[in-house]
Amino acid sequence: MTTHHAKIQIQTRGDCDMIDITERVEDIISKSGMSSGVCTVFCQGSTGSIITIEYEEGLLKDFPDAMERIAPRGTTYEHHLRWHDGNGHSHIRASIIGPSLTIPFVNGELTLGTWQQVTFVDFDNKPRMRTIHVMLVGE
Ligand code: ZN
Repeated sequence: MTTHHAKIQIQTRGDCDMIDITERVEDIISKSGMSSGVCTVFCQGSTGSIITIEYEEGLLKDFPDAMERIAPRGTTYEHHLRWHDGNGHSHIRASIIGPSLTIPFVNGELTLGTWQQVTFVDFDNKPRMRTIHVMLVGE
């Protein structure tokens, strides 16, 4: 049993920006030399999430639209009243969706479906430089 840790840095545009990071995660697995185990992908920060989704034009509109219905930006948030940073909706969305994902990998490959991409979502209300941690546990 061994572990391998790596970071992915990404510049985002904020406002529900969705970035396909599948290839970057696969690259980390391939460089680790490990063959099987679990891969945890974790967003450092309380306004971002890691999801899987079919990364195509329709869903890239549907997902932000659904988030707008679940935690709309225009309503009152105590967080905003307290900190005046306007991102109460960002925190609520990130907490509901969650900061991380764990995916098994077998024979050096993630066990993803063909139409299932690992995607980082930046819920914050401004562009940000983000750090995503990838931790492999296995052999
Ligand atoms: Zn805030």
